[in-house]
Amino acid sequence: MKEIEIHGKKFIPYIAFEEIEHAIKNMANEVYDEYKDERPIFVGVLNGVVMFFSDFLKQYQGECEISFLKLKSYEGTESTGKVQIEMDIPMDVENRHVIILEDIVDTGNTLIELHRILQEKKVKSLKVATLLFKPDAYKKDLKVDLVGISIPDKFVVGYGLDFDGLGRNLPDIYQIKH
Ligand code: 5GP
Repeated sequence: MKEIEIHGKKFIPYIAFEEIEHAIKNMANEVYDEYKDERPIFVGVLNGVVMFFSDFLKQYQGECEISFLKLKSYEGTESTGKVQIEMDIPMDVENRHVIILEDIVDTGNTLIELHRILQEKKVKSLKVATLLFKPDAYKKDLKVDLVGISIPDKFVVGYGLDFDGLGRNLPDIYQIKH
């Protein structure tokens, strides 16, 4: 892994795929231990979740269904604080166990909105599992149920995460260089 440049900004190698994979395996096992007698619905938050979602599913050993929704909260490298629904979940989740899979939880604005959306749909239970978590940026009281890897409050790209549309296809995670 070497330093890369996206839209004129430099990024340094930060988390190699092997470490990501290890964290995901642990997450999938932890979720399985809790839900093995149920058939949960994993709801992926697009677009950033694509790689995590797919790798998590491959590690999950139990019965499950999947769905997606799409939100928008970021422009450039700063959170706008505004979260909009771009695509709602296209299936009935009422009275179901739902586990939201997120690529990253930063300020928590998106998480609060996700909770509101899912509670409105009268789910039976709701948990949030995020691959990455920025504890120093998180500003909410709501508990994040499951975290893969905690990272400092610095912008990252790769493994599904973009910088203005680019970088999602990088298999490893890179951190912005200041
Ligand atoms: P929050 O609402 O928690 O502030 O932000 C959540 C969303 O912002 C994530 O789903 C993700 O799309 C985006 N985001 C937050 N931090 C980062 C980051 O470091 N890099 C990238 N590429 N996106 C981020």
